[in-house]
Amino acid sequence: MTLEPHTIADIRTGLERKTWSCRELVNSYLDSAKIKDKSLASFLRFRPAALDEAADVDARIGRGELLRPLEGVPVAVKDNMLLAGETATAASKILANYNAVYTATAVQKFRDAGAIIIGQTNLDEFAMGASTENSAYQPTRNPWDVGRVPGGSSGGSAAAVASDQVVAALGSDTGGSIRQPAGFCNVVGMKPTYGRVSRYGLIALASSLDQIGPLTRTVADAQKVYQVIAGPDACDPTTAPAAPDDVSETMRQSIKDMRIGWPKEFFGAGVDPNVRAVVEAAAKVYEELGATLSEVSLPHTPQALATYYVILPAEASSNLARFDGIRYGLSVRQNQGLDMIYRQTRAKGFGPEVKRRIMIGTFSLSSGYSDAYYGQATRVRSLIREEFDQVFDQVDILLAPTSPTTAFPLGEKVDDPLTMYLADLLTVPANLANIPAMSIPAGFIDGLPVGLQLMARQWDEARLFQAGYAYQQATDWHTKLPPT
Ligand code: GLN
Repeated sequence: MTLEPHTIADIRTGLERKTWSCRELVNSYLDSAKIKDKSLASFLRFRPAALDEAADVDARIGRGELLRPLEGVPVAVKDNMLLAGETATAASKILANYNAVYTATAVQKFRDAGAIIIGQTNLDEFAMGASTENSAYQPTRNPWDVGRVPGGSSGGSAAAVASDQVVAALGSDTGGSIRQPAGFCNVVGMKPTYGRVSRYGLIALASSLDQIGPLTRTVADAQKVYQVIAGPDACDPTTAPAAPDDVSETMRQSIKDMRIGWPKEFFGAGVDPNVRAVVEAAAKVYEELGATLSEVSLPHTPQALATYYVILPAEASSNLARFDGIRYGLSVRQNQGLDMIYRQTRAKGFGPEVKRRIMIGTFSLSSGYSDAYYGQATRVRSLIREEFDQVFDQVDILLAPTSPTTAFPLGEKVDDPLTMYLADLLTVPANLANIPAMSIPAGFIDGLPVGLQLMARQWDEARLFQAGYAYQQATDWHTKLPPT
């Protein structure tokens, strides 16, 4: 049985009409994913248990139970989210043999809604990177050109959705790790407002920035997944106290009179003029749909990248201190005392990018330097946040490129960390400001996808979905599929 690429709604219809059983569907996805993934390496492992879970769905349907929102949908999760009893590596050797003892809240909600996890996807080690080449296990390849990176760190999830190995996937976004790979692979990737989705059970990178969100082919599907995973969680005190309203119907309303902002600092040096042209074309689409367009300014945008690369390593170095070779994960013990266990475990278990960030972070937090680096970065972060607040008094949505360029060749930047960090230029401001942002397919340059980034004010995911949905109704970029 071969299947056309499906949306969540198609799968629901198929199950209702009994076009196939859930077990047949999941079996077909697993089989074809195993073949496709030979050239893409998006998965770190597949889950044979998915077939039993699909059989359970068939049994539920057989008993006449109501279909849940994501009933039977084949999905993937990034391998930095815990699923009790299963391996979770964060693509690091230090967690090679780690079995999760509990399940991440977002993953639990995903499964409770009926989604069937067919496997765990590759990422840059501890989500540090923009190409998936920092994985300790394998680089993932871009389905549009296997000589290029899929982006990162959620490159495995983006490549798996783009190549229709799954209908939806979860990623995490600390500085762009959902949006940038989504843009590189021609899928939708959405980072909710910080505090919208529980971080419980997400292996922490930078706790003041991390958010889990969906990767899908359509905005409508992204909204469905978001609706399921969002909401308060007693296990993550930073979650908002109320669940968001379901906007699956209201997001279809016309965007006439929606105020769209063109943030001029997002089109400065380093942004490929062809990428800019794609965003200009998207702006025209919005005007044709009745939105108003105006230029706005966020003057501290040029400082966002440097600010991020002080705050992120500082928080990461503190979070990664728990990997000590004692409590869990790799332990190198040669009877030389506790200090040597720490040192040798970390020397062997962490890859070069992780070590680099631990050193930068430890330095910027150290006595005598912390005010000049970490302290200063948090002050600039406040300015960035205030500027976004002010701009969202003037406009509802900001339009920008997701990334300065399209997908780059494998190996091109991996030995040059500063150049790699520039890939995050346009995604980190939304994380620093804690606002929701989404990348949607908006065109191609030389056969490579370009992501359009939409940003909205804090907690206004409703408007983000409305703007994204309207764009997808008016364009067909998201229907284009990579060469198989
Ligand atoms: N590329 C960014 C970094 O390396 C983003 C990481 C992320 O969002 N997890 O930090």
